[in-house]
Amino acid sequence: MLYKTYGKTGKMVSAVGFGGMRFDTSKTMAENADLVRYANSRGINYFDTAPGYCDDQSEDIYGEAFKDMPGQFYVSTKGMPTTFDTAEKAIAAVKKSIERLGVKKIDFYHMWCIRKKEHYALAMKPGGQYEGLLQCQKEGLIDHIVLSSHQTGNEVKEILEDGKIDGILLGVNILNFPYRWEGVQTAFDMGYGVVAMNPLGGGSIPTHEEELSFLTEGDETATEAALRFVISCPQITIALNGFTTKEHIDMACEIADEAKPFTDEEIKVIADKVGASMNEACTGCGYCDMCPQGIAIPSFMQYYNEKHIFHKTDDEMKAALGSVYEWGILAGKKGTAADCIECGLCEKECTQHLPIIDRLKEYANWG
Ligand code: SF4
Ligand code: SF4
Repeated sequence: MLYKTYGKTGKMVSAVGFGGMRFDTSKTMAENADLVRYANSRGINYFDTAPGYCDDQSEDIYGEAFKDMPGQFYVSTKGMPTTFDTAEKAIAAVKKSIERLGVKKIDFYHMWCIRKKEHYALAMKPGGQYEGLLQCQKEGLIDHIVLSSHQTGNEVKEILEDGKIDGILLGVNILNFPYRWEGVQTAFDMGYGVVAMNPLGGGSIPTHEEELSFLTEGDETATEAALRFVISCPQITIALNGFTTKEHIDMACEIADEAKPFTDEEIKVIADKVGASMNEACTGCGYCDMCPQGIAIPSFMQYYNEKHIFHKTDDEMKAALGSVYEWGILAGKKGTAADCIECGLCEKECTQHLPIIDRLKEYANWG
């Protein structure tokens, strides 16, 4: 396993982190906890979670695993300033996470899902979340206050220059890096820890191995190349992986053992080929999934990725739609694209700032 120092904290963390957002909830708590302990036995020492992940089971699964995990580890969890908008609420959220995780303290606590300047301002307001987190730090309940952001490079830079946090979690991968790089490079240059989430582009990479074969070297798959990119990148401290099997853990650990970075020339070729498409792709994060009309927006937007990233024509999209509704990502979803009343709630929440309403109009035209 490759280990790196997390910014100025002095903590040595594994280049592969365990992202607790994709546990298979059809498995038992004991089976999922076993997966966590297996990862730790392979050298992974950074475990990331949040309240609400995996039908709100993620923190409890970690809590179960940590009871009997002999290896040293760091735990990271989160709270949104929009939910915990006072110091008191923020302190209560930290204490609840500590209880569920069964740890004495949280090593990295994220002000979560900062999508725009107003969210950061809300977290930092007098009597707000940040004040509560500082209080927790004084009481030894948190080691480091960090932040997860879905903002542009410039806005990330402004936050870092404010100097209130120790590190940052950003959505960056081999396909979107040309458009996310400014934030990563800035954080790295300023000596902050940088954690990369969504290394497989919301599932777009494993499901398009053939189209993305230009990313690979030798006999590696596009998925392996995508993991190698973030794991071996000098500017990225930790690559979070949402593991569901021991085989996936083994694959990421083997990549970290070798840690062969891409050359500047290879990076340029990828940047040229990828174009602007991934910057406006749905990552499947699910933050928009609150449509009053019951439209399964993440599923609709993820299928739309086929058009946007892989350049399928309208006719191809339309022709495949029947099977997508029957067996694919839209199977069993009730609301249709034509049900959209253009209230705009989803677009306000979208981490990628996607034109969801316009894309649904295209769907409605496909029938
Ligand atoms: S704009 Fe349309 S899709 Fe978005 S939340 Fe409103 S009704 Fe739902
Ligand atoms: S549409 Fe936006 S908010 Fe919704 S799942 Fe996709 S990226 Fe996330």
